[in-house]
Amino acid sequence: MNNELQQAVVREGKVTGSGIERVEVFVVNPDWRKNLVFVRVETADGVAGWGEAYTQYDRDRAIVEQLTELARCATGRSVFGIRNFCQIAFDDYAQRRGSLEFYAALSALEQAMWDAAGRTLCQPVYNLLGGPVRQRFRVYANGWAYGLVEPCDHAAAAAAVVAKGFNAIKMDPLPKPWRTFIAREQMDLAVRVLSEVRKAVGDGIDILIDNHRRLAPTQAIELARRYEEHGIYWFEEPCQAHNLEAMAEIRGRINTPVVTGEELYTKSAFRGVFERRAADIINPDVSNVGGILELRDIAAMAEPYLVGVSPHNYNSTSLALAATVQASAGMPNFLLTEYFVPLEEISRRIAPDALGPVNGYIQLPTKPGLGITVDEQFMRSQDYRRTASRTFSTFHSA
Ligand SMILES: [Mg+2]
Repeated sequence: MNNELQQAVVREGKVTGSGIERVEVFVVNPDWRKNLVFVRVETADGVAGWGEAYTQYDRDRAIVEQLTELARCATGRSVFGIRNFCQIAFDDYAQRRGSLEFYAALSALEQAMWDAAGRTLCQPVYNLLGGPVRQRFRVYANGWAYGLVEPCDHAAAAAAVVAKGFNAIKMDPLPKPWRTFIAREQMDLAVRVLSEVRKAVGDGIDILIDNHRRLAPTQAIELARRYEEHGIYWFEEPCQAHNLEAMAEIRGRINTPVVTGEELYTKSAFRGVFERRAADIINPDVSNVGGILELRDIAAMAEPYLVGVSPHNYNSTSLALAATVQASAGMPNFLLTEYFVPLEEISRRIAPDALGPVNGYIQLPTKPGLGITVDEQFMRSQDYRRTASRTFSTFHSA
């Protein structure tokens, strides 16, 4: 948009032609674990904005349906009415009852509105949120250990991902399935995995441990103490995320920062985390927490409690990562964010200029909106492909 046109659409605080006229949903199968869900909005002026919804195994179709329904509420609204849209979506559309699918859909639409708003004004989103406080963003690699069990395999994979330039890596060394109580040999194996990975990468690399909400406090405390001998950066979701008493108990009895937040949606869910001092670091996800504004609000809530923010990002490294970076640019308590190495290749197809780290850091993008450009031809060429069925054992004993 040239300057003359820009001045014409922004007159006396009103942006004309910014109403959403079209909403489209896209699903991409990356041939790895889960489908990716995206949304595109288009304004009356023909400005497009993109966003990405968080998804899980076998839930992408439910999220697509939720997006399709919520799109009816977004249509006709200005892409500059983001706060109002989010309030209407929660208070009126959802009648104050949330779900993973609802928050994922809302987050995607919210990001798309920001993208379109930034493009309309020819500004990166972070400039509409108070400007940046940093020029680069540390990332940690995840997804590199998926499916591995043996310590030697973990060690080799860790060395390979560090060789790509990452200085922080995350893994969950406990063998599957996820259960509250684990057998002695499972805990022993997990500690051996960490030990071998530490030997393989050396002392200069931060190792982040995820537990995926699975353990009882007594098990989590024992495991964390054994991990601590090998040096870990954080201990993520040791127990179920909504059991803040147990989370705080674990935090009080180990010497490693406790992280929670990827399964908590909106400011309301984070209130107790701060009040009960249940975590040192929170990891909300921009694609399910309610979007860029909600992530920024939660980060601001965390500040006076001296809690750091490390946005979760089990999404593509295209739009959700770009939205994370835009939200984090002006976030004083940002620490580092997540980068899924196995989704890098498909993300480059989705957006050839997708943000990527060099020596473990992403540079502050400067393009308008979310700062990347989606290959619409590629997106429109993707036929829906359902992910393969999973199988589960009937019984499990620790
Ligand atoms: Mg996690």
